[in-house]
Amino acid sequence: MSGLKEGKALFTQPPMPIKCAGAPQKSMYLSADHWTRTNVIKNIDIEFHNAGGVLFGIKDYVPALEKYIEKYSIGLNFHHNLVAVDGPARKAWFEVSKPDLPVERVEVDFDMMHVTPPQCAPDFIAASPLADRAGWVDVDQANLRHKTYDNIWSLGDVMNAPNAKTAAAARKQAPVVADNIIADIRGRPAVSQYDGYGSCPLTVERGKIVLAEFGYGGALQPSFPSWLIDGTQPSRLAWLLKEKILPPIYWQAMLKGREWLAKPEKL
Ligand SMILES: Cc1cc2nc3c(=O)[nH]c(=O)nc-3n(C[C@H](O)[C@H](O)[C@H](O)COP(=O)(O)OP(=O)(O)OC[C@H]3O[C@@H](n4cnc5c(N)ncnc54)[C@H](O)[C@@H]3O)c2cc1C
Repeated sequence: MSGLKEGKALFTQPPMPIKCAGAPQKSMYLSADHWTRTNVIKNIDIEFHNAGGVLFGIKDYVPALEKYIEKYSIGLNFHHNLVAVDGPARKAWFEVSKPDLPVERVEVDFDMMHVTPPQCAPDFIAASPLADRAGWVDVDQANLRHKTYDNIWSLGDVMNAPNAKTAAAARKQAPVVADNIIADIRGRPAVSQYDGYGSCPLTVERGKIVLAEFGYGGALQPSFPSWLIDGTQPSRLAWLLKEKILPPIYWQAMLKGREWLAKPEKL
């Protein structure tokens, strides 16, 4: 990214689910910000090739992102799924499957390419009886208990609840699973439920973040009042939160099981 001074920069996003749905865009916006600050952006043609059909799955965050797409003059290509790359020849191929149109394959030249690969569960899970047809551990999305095997619970990216695969989600899932296992040991039904919370801090420029926080069905679940951090707008405070405040919370509170804000909802 630092080495590119002119030419075409491609950024790709594979089909969902992926870790932190906005992650491929984070690197794109930060690269564009770097090229803006170093005054070379006028010589760089940035293209985003997304296998999906929208910029971000939760519509409330799209307007803020679109402003950055415009600011950095990024070319958007939806329904473009990366299928092959020839690095030395600097060529990439995308399968384009737009609704109601035959699938076609297009070739795109590039000078720099940032690839986000398609993602799947580890083989030892995908090949096991725990997995659903797509390979993820098959759980009830509220109590996180396995749908077939009563003595198994699952959390984190490996399971199939329809939340955004983020560490922020695992942080909320851990106490739910802990509560429900303890209840089960005591011969009681599940007591806690997970609401699908996940968070994707979209780094739209150095020093500013669009802090997407949402749960099942795309319901917004902000952790802060909007006068403090309005998640639908780029915010300096959200950057500060991620850079300075979250690391100690992660190491000192979350990993030690002392995170008061992650208290689960009772069933
Ligand atoms: C670029 C990027 C940016 C992200 N940004 C954010 C963010 O800002 N906020 C956020 O909340 N989340 C973010 N995420 C998502 C976050 O990293 C994941 O959701 C989180 O790490 C999931 O935790 P996990 O423990 O479920 O899975 P993982 O972190 O994937 O851990 C699984 C572990 O299992 C190990 N493993 C695999 N196979 C085996 C085996 N056979 N035996 C033993 N061990 C094995 C792996 O090595 C790995 O260490 C981001 C992800 C990426 C890639």
